[in-house]
Amino acid sequence: MHTISLYNTLSRKKEEFKPINAPFVGLYVCGPTVYSDVHLGNCRTFISFDLIYRYLSHVGYKVRYVRNITDAGHLEGDRDEGDDKFAKKARLEQLEPMEIVQKYTVGFRDVMREFNTLPPSIEPTATGHICEQIEMIKEILENGLAYEKEGTVYFDVEKYSKEFNYGQLTNRKLEELLEGTRELSGQEEKKGRLDFALWIKAKPETIMRWPSPWGWGFPGWHIECSAMSRKYLGETFDIHGGGMDLQATHHTNEIAQSQACYHKTPVNYWMHTNMLTVNGVRMSKSAGNGFLPGELFSGNHPLLEKGYKPMAVRFFMLQTHYRSTLDFSNEALQASEKGFERLMDSFKTLQTLQPDSSSDEDVKGIQDRCYEAMNDDFNTSVLIAQLFDASRIINSANDKKTKLTKEDITLLQKLFHDFVVDILGLMVEQESEKLDSALATVMELVLDIRSKAKTGKDFKLSDEIRDKLNHAGIQVKDTKEGSSWKI
Ligand code: AMP
Ligand code: ZN
Repeated sequence: MHTISLYNTLSRKKEEFKPINAPFVGLYVCGPTVYSDVHLGNCRTFISFDLIYRYLSHVGYKVRYVRNITDAGHLEGDRDEGDDKFAKKARLEQLEPMEIVQKYTVGFRDVMREFNTLPPSIEPTATGHICEQIEMIKEILENGLAYEKEGTVYFDVEKYSKEFNYGQLTNRKLEELLEGTRELSGQEEKKGRLDFALWIKAKPETIMRWPSPWGWGFPGWHIECSAMSRKYLGETFDIHGGGMDLQATHHTNEIAQSQACYHKTPVNYWMHTNMLTVNGVRMSKSAGNGFLPGELFSGNHPLLEKGYKPMAVRFFMLQTHYRSTLDFSNEALQASEKGFERLMDSFKTLQTLQPDSSSDEDVKGIQDRCYEAMNDDFNTSVLIAQLFDASRIINSANDKKTKLTKEDITLLQKLFHDFVVDILGLMVEQESEKLDSALATVMELVLDIRSKAKTGKDFKLSDEIRDKLNHAGIQVKDTKEGSSWKI
């Protein structure tokens, strides 16, 4: 088994990865809140953990990968202020809250498939685990670390802090955390500024509600992950992940809930991905700078110069290490697209490369460095640089400048299969996709010639083009905005 070192947010250093029960590994990743479409920033986090899942599996671990679906209990503010996101969206779209959940869950899974992320082993929903959440809240209440007010149950952060370190994940003292929050106005039910809701009393109009010992209500956002990770991975498990925006509140509260409930450290390694930004600003639903994957694939967005294929976007994301910020721009995407094509072209060249009897290259050295990069906190940036080196070797041998033996070629094929297809999860483009893309380019050209003919009043030529295309089974439709075509 490889020795993998990974950066643990909890200890703030790289540590050797030692699973509790090797070769089994428990991996929990906070999934999407399905009240709207996932944006590209969300996808970055899920693609990063897909890579980690793929690599751990590749080196021989049996990973149970749990990624939840948050389909209830998420209020607009992290500390239980504001509207219920699902109820608000349901009103806006004139749908049932569960229709909202279904619509965006289906959309999320489609996007994940486009990006070739593997399905998790278990994808539990918050609404499917209400009993487990209620049980956990009862245990926290019994341990005296929560209190009920008018049908809502709050976690008592200050009392918890007397025994445990609440700010351990962000390395902050309680006083510092308190400074960052608003004074209570005196109107609130909660006792302390940092207290958060475990269970929220339903308003008369709340549709998504369940009976509980405290009356009708719904669970707070944080308790679902504690309850579901405990159920499927045990009271202490190996890796818990998510975007770094979840560190200060959601994950901090998860640790507190689990410790308060069963007095154990729930997670050994906390891993956090850095943010995808646009012009330096974090991509988010609220900032209004959240590209949707569909917009990126079609190019249908004012900030986009063209459309990009899902695999080129995946490659763009993986070229940067998951702990660095990644800024989104047309230039950066186009550079990645070119790099990706170069890599894929050399993969194809490799299939037809003729071996020599001697070698000028150290292919095994490249393979070792690829593993070294991945074992060093999943450093895909260094890995891809090594793959470009492999690509250079292939092209040089193809140009007869250097030599490669049969064994070299076999090892290079394995290298591409392992690292490009299996680990980076980049699908090699099918011939049919290439043909589709070539046809689109040719049609753009033909319709442009026809439009120029029309402008020059050469209607004979423009009609001839239309009729011949029609004859070939391609229908051209003219509208005020221009011409479109379909087969
Ligand atoms: P949400 O649906 O908002 O709960 O987010 C789902 C996941 O996406 C969480 O792990 C977030 O931390 C992550 N996330 C949100 N915004 C970004 C971003 N701009 N870049 C990377 N990850 C993000
Ligand atoms: Zn979570």
